[in-house]
Amino acid sequence: MTMHIDMETFTVNKRFPLTISRGITTHTENIWVKIEADGIEGWGEASPFGVGNHRQSTAMIQNSLQQIIPTLQSFHPLQHEQIEQALLRAKLPSSAIAAVDMALYDWLGKKVGLPLWQMWGLNRNAIAPISVTIGISSPETARERVRNWLQFADIKILKVKLGSPDGITADRIMVQAVREEAPTLELYVDANGGWNVEDAIFMCRWLADLGVKYVEQPLSRGEEQNLNQVKKSSPLPIFVDESCFRSQDISPLVNYIDGVNIKLMKSGGLTEAIRIVHTARAHGLQVMFGCYSDSTLANTAALQLSPLADYLDLDSHLNLIDDPFTGATLEQGILLPTHLPGLGVEQRASVT
Ligand SMILES: [Mg+2]
Repeated sequence: MTMHIDMETFTVNKRFPLTISRGITTHTENIWVKIEADGIEGWGEASPFGVGNHRQSTAMIQNSLQQIIPTLQSFHPLQHEQIEQALLRAKLPSSAIAAVDMALYDWLGKKVGLPLWQMWGLNRNAIAPISVTIGISSPETARERVRNWLQFADIKILKVKLGSPDGITADRIMVQAVREEAPTLELYVDANGGWNVEDAIFMCRWLADLGVKYVEQPLSRGEEQNLNQVKKSSPLPIFVDESCFRSQDISPLVNYIDGVNIKLMKSGGLTEAIRIVHTARAHGLQVMFGCYSDSTLANTAALQLSPLADYLDLDSHLNLIDDPFTGATLEQGILLPTHLPGLGVEQRASVT
C-alpha cells in the first residue's frame, strides 16, 4: 500500500436553519477523508447536496468512496492526475471526488511546506469580502437574521435567497425588509431557480432599482435555453450556479450569462475548480466561489483560490454550532486563509 486512506461521517448542525427555494436544511451529515503517505496527512471533505433531480446523498458518497479506496491506496499522492482519472472512470459523485482531490492538495502543500494559495503564487491581499446568507423567511425573521449576522461579525455583504414558494410578492417584501434593516450593505440575490422567465425579468429590473449587485440562477437547471431572454432584459449581471458543475458546462452558456458560481462539491475539487476559473475568464465571464453545507474544511480549501474570484460566498461554516475543524479566519468581512502549509485546516482538539 502506497497511501493509507481513512474516512468518517460527521454531523454538523446549523445555528439558524436555512430555507431556499428547494426546501429547508437544519443539519447535514458530511464526510471527511484523510490520506497518509510519507508520514504526512492530507484532509478533504464531502458534503451532500441536491439540484433538481440530481442528488448526492451522504450514503451515496460514502459507499462510492468505500468501493474506490482499495484502488486509490495503490497510488502515491504525487500521482494526482492518475488518481483523478481513476475517480472519473469510476463515475464517483463529484462531492466524493472533491474530498479526495482536496486531501491530495492538502498533502502536497504540507509536503512542500507551503499554503496552497502561496504555492500557486496568489495574492492573499487581493481577496474579496464574503457575502453571508439570508434564507427565505418572513420579513421579520429576515430582519432578525440580518441583525444577528451583524452582531456576529463585521459583515459587508448580504446574499438574499429569493424564489419563495409564495411568489415574487413575498420575495419583494422580504428583500425590502433586508434593505431597510441594512441600508448600507451590498446586496446579492440568489433565486435558486425559483422564478419563471417573466418573474425573472420583472425581478431583475426591480432589484436593480433597489441597488442589488447581481442575480444568481434566476431559472432552474434545465431551463438554460430561456436564460437568453432574461439576460437581454436584465440590467443586472446574471450568474449561474445549479446550471454549471464543470468547465465543459460553460461554453453552451456564454452568451446567456455574466458569471459562474464555482463550488468544490459540484466541480469535484480544486483541480477542476481551477479549470472552471480559466474557462470562465477565457470567455470574459466573472467568477464566484460558493458552498453547500460545508464545514471550515471545504470552505478553507475553496478559499485557497479566492484571490482569483470576483465574489465569494463561503459562509456555511459560520452558521455551524459544531464545526469539527478550524482554518480560515474572518477579519473585517474578509475570509482569510492561514499561513499553515496545505489547506491550513486543523481538527478541533475537542473532537477526536
Ligand atoms: Mg446559489
